[in-house]
Amino acid sequence: MGKVLIIGAGGVGTVVAHKVAQNQDVFNEIMIASRTKSKCDAVVKAIGNPNIRTAQVDADNVDDLVRLFESFRPDIVINVALPYQDLTIMEACLKTGVNYLDTANYEPKDEAHFEYSWQWAYKQRFEEAGLTAILGCGFDPGVSGIYTAYAAKHHFDEIHYLDIVDCNAGNHHKAFATNFNPEINIREITQKGLYYKDGEWIETDPLSVHQPITYPNIGPRESYLMHHEELESLVKNYPTIKQARFWMTFGQQYLTYLDVIQNIGMSRIDEIEYQAPLADESGKQVKVKIVPLQFLKAVLPNPQDLGENYDGETSIGCRIRGIKEGKERTYYVYNNCSHQAAYKETGMQGVSYTTGVPAMIGAMMFLKGLWKRPGVWNVEEFDPDPFMEQLNKQGLPWHEVFDGNLEL
Ligand code: NDP
Repeated sequence: MGKVLIIGAGGVGTVVAHKVAQNQDVFNEIMIASRTKSKCDAVVKAIGNPNIRTAQVDADNVDDLVRLFESFRPDIVINVALPYQDLTIMEACLKTGVNYLDTANYEPKDEAHFEYSWQWAYKQRFEEAGLTAILGCGFDPGVSGIYTAYAAKHHFDEIHYLDIVDCNAGNHHKAFATNFNPEINIREITQKGLYYKDGEWIETDPLSVHQPITYPNIGPRESYLMHHEELESLVKNYPTIKQARFWMTFGQQYLTYLDVIQNIGMSRIDEIEYQAPLADESGKQVKVKIVPLQFLKAVLPNPQDLGENYDGETSIGCRIRGIKEGKERTYYVYNNCSHQAAYKETGMQGVSYTTGVPAMIGAMMFLKGLWKRPGVWNVEEFDPDPFMEQLNKQGLPWHEVFDGNLEL
């Protein structure tokens, strides 16, 4: 049916490649490209399908991307590199007539700040080019928006309260590790919290608002209010929402390490001068510039290597309160994903799995013509039904609870 180019060969890229390869009736030509080609080759070797092509690309460089797109001519690019590369990849798509999908919104490297405005600004250009861009198609953002769209379509006349609840009750048996790219993860968690209430955005100190929430098959876990990007598009697309919040669980040990990392300056994203163990021709010591958080990433465990000893599961869902036929009702829709099952299937842990599977399904929706509409869109703007059907088939089955206690 179509040609797909995956950019990024990290934890998420590896899962996308496995899942795309499992659906060759839809994806009949596949390429995986990233900064380090050997990582792409290793993914292809693990999948065992020599027809998957690989390439080296610097996704910060539009010309480099254009050259690759022109030689492979994909129908769609699945961008699972880093949020820094979203705009360069979108630019290259416009220059070469390629459709686009990602799992995280654009962030400038020098500022830990994410919002959709940068990517929404491309709407008219994608429309005029007749190209589709699908934003935020991982789990959260991604399935969280699709769950909300499904709830709005089938179970509510008006959604009033939305709480996205994200629990990782897994254990990787490391003192400290992040479940996806450490740099992006730590930037996200150390930001101020933000939630939406009665038409306004309310800021909270980082991780200062928390409460226990009970997760299915897991039990109560302390959950922290955070800013998360899908809230921005969901309150825009569902204007009846009075309050929208995002909660994520963290263990006490993780938070203690995070505190130390921040207090000793290792989460800084500005450049510092570091006396390198190098000398120039005259024998003078050379100073190099490093970003502490990037250095920390280099010494932390690689999220891709956590899978083997990871046990437990994730549980992510939407807890919704609103009105149906004049009556108040509650609805909870969620998925639980086992880290070990994800590892057995793809060699990656559950967080990469829950992101990579929806990214593949989003590209499948596009290639099947079900989510094909020129412009730049968030996932909740498309029909959720065929996507929800695929979630059940592709390894992320969902469950519903009607009129239960939402705790929130
Ligand atoms: P990793 O760091 O494991 O992988 C990122 C990959 O991108 C690496 O292969 C890296 O190359 C490559 N890359 C980075 N910079 C460039 C560049 N300039 N040119 C080409 N390739 C580049 O990250 P993850 O797989 O954990 O995460 C991938 C994305 O998924 C991130 O954007 C993250 O925010 C998002 N995500 C979304 C979630 C959701 O639910 N929506 C949840 C989790 C993650 P190299 O190997 O050489 O470093």
